[in-house]
Amino acid sequence: MNKIELKQQTENGQNLLNIEVIDISATVADLLQVWQPLCDDEKIVKLYAEGGHASCRACKVNCCNTAYVIPDLVAFRKMAAGLNYDYHEFIDDYCQTQKRELGLLRLKPNPCVFLREDICTIYPLRSLICRFYICTPLTGSTEQLIYEIAWTGAAATCIFAEEKGLLRTDSKGGFSSFDLLFKQLVDDYRSHPGVELFLRAADYDDIPLAPFLIE
Ligand code: SF4
Ligand code: SF4
Repeated sequence: MNKIELKQQTENGQNLLNIEVIDISATVADLLQVWQPLCDDEKIVKLYAEGGHASCRACKVNCCNTAYVIPDLVAFRKMAAGLNYDYHEFIDDYCQTQKRELGLLRLKPNPCVFLREDICTIYPLRSLICRFYICTPLTGSTEQLIYEIAWTGAAATCIFAEEKGLLRTDSKGGFSSFDLLFKQLVDDYRSHPGVELFLRAADYDDIPLAPFLIE
């Protein structure tokens, strides 16, 4: 039996995608396994795709052109290792300098530094925010779950980078409204119990879903 099920449910006349965790021993890796096929699913609604339906692979709108990506710690480590970079080199080459000055580890954007000819060149290593973002309508509990995991992972990256002296903690200003929003999100999740799990994890199957589930 699957540990996690994805189902469409109707609320106020709208079809919404809902995650149901059947087995409490499920991990983030289990969730990613059932979530991944949604990227290529042309039947579900994709609000920003041409005609409202598309495989993300063939999408002409392509949210990677404008995404604000702060990688979770598992992805951050994997991307650096996959590119054969140490963390300092990775941050230098792939994170936006201006945002680093503000204490934010944002991948270079507009379009994302890893996008080539509309294809993500690090697709198997991409971060949770990239994996989870699909422009299909979600139930509130599903939205809460995926963003809580992604932002806890991003907070873990910031804590890890600060502890290693890779990211400044004394920035005073110059934030855009988006910077402030994302900085606030990172700060909100710094004390989440899942941060410790990300700091210790080698991969997503080391991170249980239980601490992210609403009781
Ligand atoms: S999630 Fe992004 S790539 Fe996928 S259909 Fe929506 S806009 Fe396109
Ligand atoms: S890392 Fe890949 S999936 Fe994420 S925004 Fe960049 S190109 Fe898109």
